[in-house]
Amino acid sequence: MVLGGGPCGLSAAWELSGKGYDVTVLEKNSGVGGLCMTREYLGYRFDLGGHRFISANKALVGRVRRMMGDELLTAERKSVILQKGKTFQYPLCARDLFTKIGFRTGLRAFLSYIKGMVAAGVLQKKDVSFDDWVTHRFGRILYELFFGPYTEKVWGISPKLISSDWASQRISLLNLSEVFFRLMRLKRGTPRTYARTYFYPRKGIGQIFDVMGSVIQQNGGRIVLNADVSDVEVSDGKVKKIRYKYQGSRREIDCDAVVSTIPLPDLIKTFPDDLVKEVKQHANSLTYRAIRFMNIFVDLPDVSGNTWMYVSEKKYIMTRIQEPKRRSPFNAPDGKTSLMLEIPCNANDALWNCDDAELFERCLADLCELGIDVRGKVTGYFTSRVSHGYPVYKLDYRRHQEKLLSFLEQFENLIACGRQGAFRYIFMDTAMEMGIAAAQRLVYENPYNKEQIPFMRSEAGLLEKDFMAVSG
Ligand SMILES: Cc1cc2nc3c(=O)[nH]c(=O)nc-3n(C[C@H](O)[C@H](O)[C@H](O)COP(=O)(O)OP(=O)(O)OC[C@H]3O[C@@H](n4cnc5c(N)ncnc54)[C@H](O)[C@@H]3O)c2cc1C
Repeated sequence: MVLGGGPCGLSAAWELSGKGYDVTVLEKNSGVGGLCMTREYLGYRFDLGGHRFISANKALVGRVRRMMGDELLTAERKSVILQKGKTFQYPLCARDLFTKIGFRTGLRAFLSYIKGMVAAGVLQKKDVSFDDWVTHRFGRILYELFFGPYTEKVWGISPKLISSDWASQRISLLNLSEVFFRLMRLKRGTPRTYARTYFYPRKGIGQIFDVMGSVIQQNGGRIVLNADVSDVEVSDGKVKKIRYKYQGSRREIDCDAVVSTIPLPDLIKTFPDDLVKEVKQHANSLTYRAIRFMNIFVDLPDVSGNTWMYVSEKKYIMTRIQEPKRRSPFNAPDGKTSLMLEIPCNANDALWNCDDAELFERCLADLCELGIDVRGKVTGYFTSRVSHGYPVYKLDYRRHQEKLLSFLEQFENLIACGRQGAFRYIFMDTAMEMGIAAAQRLVYENPYNKEQIPFMRSEAGLLEKDFMAVSG
């Protein structure tokens, strides 16, 4: 049984069904893909925030390429930061830093960088918050120019309240000297932030998971859409039944083993109240940041050459602007293009609930001020929302996460994994690896399983402890 039909859950079902196991996926939405879903309207395709598929795991890439055939394209990334009327390359490049921020600011940035290095190196100051992590590696001036305002906009809270874990997982480059060495070509290797090329399907990122869903069904697996998991029945240290809401009715299904990829706090709340009374407060302490997407149809062949445009200034509503056509030419009809704006918010706050037309006017005005004037060229727009965009790494998130995961450990046939399920800020490739690893672990360790298949770590290149929140 797999709970959630995003990349992690589907990959688990892909693995299990491929090995001939009887598997059912319960997915709350009307389609599969989770955050990696693509919506199509009038020949325009919009992901939920533009995605790219990159992985250092050759076995995983090979499997996805075989599954997708010619439908998987290779695209090139070109991203910029729009800041105070200037355009900086992203990832930050030393040439831009030294030439565009001006001599005075450049000198101050350099001195604050030295100060940050001294604080971290000589005074041994620890990285507790995001603020510490960045200032120790880039200095306070660059923090105030780029990282601080952007981060505060994404999370809606001060970077002093965000754990340094997020920075270390999100920003692949290490510090300002790294930027310099890469400019001088004295350093090689391609961390994720620097990767220029990536895979992207012809019809949007969701195509990978639509195809994967079909393969699961061809293998005999079942995918139940519109199935909202509501509670679990447990006995003898095992999950025995899953109950879910389906089109106004309540249904239940027996299970031998469960891979859960639904949000960790939500999973906890599906257990009987008396079992979770001790941990419920920890579940309530883990929260997710929501995102609203403004998807705009534009009657122009192109708007910009950029895959992503980062906007950190507080006065603008969006954090990123994307032109989906830059990922695949099939994301817009011939001769037309589109824009997608990412607008972070909290589920049910004013931005989340704001009327589409009012939000559109605000976006159009912001775009215009940023030098992207598409007034008179817009032929339509719509918005989409995700309530679980980013797991919020508050300073004490680990304590709550660990309590919940240790609670789940008592159920030997349950594995919680994925971005929502393990409360880990991970990308799609890691979510897929987690799902595959969870499936392999169930197959290998499940006492119901007669055929003992080795845990194929070498094939997936996996180290289970790195990826999984494992119970049982
Ligand atoms: C704006 C944005 C941009 C991103 N860009 C990239 C990128 O370029 N490259 C990349 O690799 N990654 C990217 N990611 C990350 C990527 O989307 C995630 O890593 C990936 O989707 C995680 O997969 P998952 O299956 O763990 O979780 P999800 O995709 O969130 O899937 C979880 C599923 O569980 C379902 N569910 C929840 N509750 C229930 C319930 N009660 N019952 C049944 N089902 C339920 C949900 O509907 C969902 O389908 C991006 C994420 C965001 C938000």
